[in-house]
Amino acid sequence: MSPTAKTRRCTFIIENGLIVDGTGNTATEGDVAVDGERIVGVGDCSGFRADATFDAGGKVISPGFIDCHTHDDRAVFATPDMSMKASQGVTSVVAGNCGISLAPFETGNGLPPPFPLLGREENFTYPSVRAYREAFERKPPALNLALLTGHSSLRVNVMKADLERPAKEPELRDMQDRLRQAMRDGSIGLSTGLGYPPARNAPREEIIALASVLWEFDRPVYATHMRDEGDHVLEAVEETIDTGRRAGVQTVISHHKCSGPKNYGRSTETLAAIAAARAEQKLGLDVYPYTASSTSLLPEYVRKSEDVLITYSDPHPEMAGRRLEDVAAEWSCDPIEAAERLYPAGAIYFQMDEEDLKRILAAPGAMVGSDGLPGGTKPHPRLWGTFPRVLARYVREQRLLALEDAVHRMSGLTAQTFGLTDRGVIAPGAYADLVMFDPDTVTDTASFKDPEQPATGIEKVFVNGNIVWDGDHSSSARPGRFLTH
Ligand SMILES: [Zn+2]
Repeated sequence: MSPTAKTRRCTFIIENGLIVDGTGNTATEGDVAVDGERIVGVGDCSGFRADATFDAGGKVISPGFIDCHTHDDRAVFATPDMSMKASQGVTSVVAGNCGISLAPFETGNGLPPPFPLLGREENFTYPSVRAYREAFERKPPALNLALLTGHSSLRVNVMKADLERPAKEPELRDMQDRLRQAMRDGSIGLSTGLGYPPARNAPREEIIALASVLWEFDRPVYATHMRDEGDHVLEAVEETIDTGRRAGVQTVISHHKCSGPKNYGRSTETLAAIAAARAEQKLGLDVYPYTASSTSLLPEYVRKSEDVLITYSDPHPEMAGRRLEDVAAEWSCDPIEAAERLYPAGAIYFQMDEEDLKRILAAPGAMVGSDGLPGGTKPHPRLWGTFPRVLARYVREQRLLALEDAVHRMSGLTAQTFGLTDRGVIAPGAYADLVMFDPDTVTDTASFKDPEQPATGIEKVFVNGNIVWDGDHSSSARPGRFLTH
């Protein structure tokens, strides 16, 4: 060891860890040295003199998890400690998914479903990504955030309330220009929600025309909540592959699933199509580790589900946490009418198969994303439980994934897919986004009955070198950055 290395100072060292570095490589024992916001040493850090030391006691040190599928656009302002994510070991979130982004958004044209998932109309106060970014940087939250630009947001800006049709040529050019501006302002790509009312009449050509704009920018991403996740899921996968290929951009299939009992098992078909495409183009997918989905309470989803739970209802807040069927019985009406009376509302839909979920989680290119919906009264437990649940249920209990593989799908793979520079890995020079957890005890405790519960076993979480979660509580640090390409 050189004498200079011996005298090198740093802010802190985490000693005696099992380092799972996010690349998928085999874990190694050692230390991680951090100076300021960056990692400066990995492995044997005895050459550093640190202002503080933490003893990992043999527990895992991994890159902070990146939640690549979130609707945290407003949560970073409303709940800046972001404890529902920090408590899971998450250090960065990708917001603006499923075609709905809080920015760029111009109000006054109504708020069609599923926009209410992000807030009320008065919460949509960011006409540009630049305005959103400035607000973020003025009052940063605990975690980092990268923002996708929602296709449905662009549609509402340009087509106002007249959304049940394809965009006309001048409207399309307007949307392209707005997307370019959003990208210049720091957005990392485009998202669509093609199964939702504001976008379902947008033809494939409209999406290709927009996604093609991304090509003008550095490492852009196109993430899609596909047109269909049920009976026509394979056609939707094919549309996605075609769109990504023709636009020539990194594409991500959001919250991949095969919904509805008659589609159980069809992930063998969708994953085969995805694997074949991955040989030719950049295509990834994200998935959450539950067999129930959650979104707005809409009749079309009620019809396709085995069971439905209410997460919130504006006109009937007392019904949060109840089964839709029970509410309907109480009101002496059918579930569809009950759903209409409860709206604006959110719901949890039981409509997936465990074997599909496992197959998707272990598929090449699959990343973990929570799709958590903050703000509900009884939200889907994925909001608080996703990442620990993968580590507990699918790594420790079922051994579906090796620990290193699971961490890779939560960090390194995600950073690479979404183009987040110097994030998602433990390496000298990378940002000190880190989580220390006990692989033997880490457990999600959030349940459908009691969903807002922090996980156990996540011991320390660092964002840009600052502790944001310590044992069982958030710190007051707000080191989050707005991440751009
Ligand atoms: Zn979605």
